[in-house]
Amino acid sequence: MSIKTKVHERSLVLIKPDGVQRGLVGEIISRFEKKGLKITAMKMVWPTLEMAKKHYDQPVEAMMLLGNRTIESYKEKGLKPKFSDPIEIAKDIQTRLLKYLVVGPVLAMVIEGAHAIAHVRKIRGGTNPLSADIGTITGDYTIDSYFVADADERAIRNLVHASGSVEEAENEIKIWFKSSEIMDYDLAIDKILYSMEWEAKK
Ligand code: ADP
Ligand code: MG
Repeated sequence: MSIKTKVHERSLVLIKPDGVQRGLVGEIISRFEKKGLKITAMKMVWPTLEMAKKHYDQPVEAMMLLGNRTIESYKEKGLKPKFSDPIEIAKDIQTRLLKYLVVGPVLAMVIEGAHAIAHVRKIRGGTNPLSADIGTITGDYTIDSYFVADADERAIRNLVHASGSVEEAENEIKIWFKSSEIMDYDLAIDKILYSMEWEAKK
């Protein structure tokens, strides 16, 4: 059994087809590695439509959130959303997302650590690359935006998917990995941060 803190979490991360196509796989993985997060599963998968549907199948509350968030960010930018109903907007985005995910292979990973969900989301950066902070993946590696994506009626190509909550992660991990594909081991950082075994030189 590996060392785990009380706040140990797992995140499902996908380097989406644009990340793979642009040769950014190594660059992206290294950001998570350098942070001290632990990659416990990894594989390349060309998602089927069925897998993509399962991955983006969301409860009504999450659809409302996605729709409302989109309406808000459109307003901030002075843009008019295609629909006024948040659910209609979310459905429209989902259709675009499915198209985006199945066009080529993705790199799927399980990334673990204390507060892994929040750390991974911070490294990934905001959903919209135009407003994402520099220093994050979306802020550093792409110039896509809601505005440009919307003009083309497609999903924002933002390189990386990262689970939004522990519950989302646990559901998503089941779609992409069997439990036998997830490794249980310690990194040096686990021992350095969380182990009391260090002793001063006598
Ligand atoms: P996140 O990836 O930050 O968790 P969401 O779960 O809200 O974002 O949305 C999933 C994905 O859908 C985003 O990563 C992005 O690719 C796409 N997306 C979200 N909102 C929009 C939008 N308004 N227009 C186009 N694509 C969008
Ligand atoms: Mg999300």
